[in-house]
Amino acid sequence: MLVNSAVITGKGADTARSRSGEDLERVRVLLQTRYDDLNAEYEEAVAENQRLRLVEIGDAAGDDQADSGSKTAERDAATSLLRTLLDRRTQAEVAMQRLDEGTYGNCEGCSNPIPVERLEVFPSATTCVHCKANRERRAG
Ligand SMILES: [Zn+2]
Repeated sequence: MLVNSAVITGKGADTARSRSGEDLERVRVLLQTRYDDLNAEYEEAVAENQRLRLVEIGDAAGDDQADSGSKTAERDAATSLLRTLLDRRTQAEVAMQRLDEGTYGNCEGCSNPIPVERLEVFPSATTCVHCKANRERRAG
């Protein structure tokens, strides 16, 4: 009769309760959804990038200047989109890792818990609003 009580009440139960596990579970779903979306977008962008490059190689010989200029702009835009998507995907990935490790939701600046309301809007947030504002003030 005592068989499973240790398993059920053991690992994680107490620590999770202090920072409502239900909220974190919701955030995890948000993160997973975001990650999947970004991943799909990223793969699309990679394909588009590839296509642009092939077009460029194929057309290079016959291009006049204006044409190749707009193609370069197009390719630059595609490249920066790629970088943005990769950044965001990494952020979502890191957030999910932190969730697994149990360090998710603590501010990197002051190490206080980040309010769940903020995490629901910005699941990849690694700082609380105050530290974010401080950082931006310092940077700007
Ligand atoms: Zn903070």
